[in-house]
Amino acid sequence: MIFDGFPRTLQQATALDEVLAAKKRKLNVVVELKVDDKKLVDRITGRFTCATCGAGYHDTFKRPKNDGVCDTCGGTKFTRRPDDNAETVTNRLMVYYRETSPLLGYYFCKGTLRSLDGMADIADVSKAIFKVLDETK
Ligand SMILES: [Zn+2]
Repeated sequence: MIFDGFPRTLQQATALDEVLAAKKRKLNVVVELKVDDKKLVDRITGRFTCATCGAGYHDTFKRPKNDGVCDTCGGTKFTRRPDDNAETVTNRLMVYYRETSPLLGYYFCKGTLRSLDGMADIADVSKAIFKVLDETK
């Protein structure tokens, strides 16, 4: 069983441990994907999509070949998710540091934490996650 994005608080983590203990189970491994905060904000706030076909672009990393024209469909209207702005992303980071980051110490002390480079290519991150899961079967 894999939990993705849960638990997010110490209270949730201790409650989960109690439920698992009652069933004589435990978490085998907790995987942290470490990211660079500045790069994370840049990645999220730079995203935009073609309003016609939904093709994804980025201000820095994946601009259309011709500015303002979708590579896929030739559309000229683009949209940004309203919550992909710097203020919203920064607020979400604040919530992470306040409520979720204490879990790193909690799971480190329990010996279940594995920290991986979340800034690597998607394929490499996937490979690293599967390796950890294979090692902890
Ligand atoms: Zn398009």
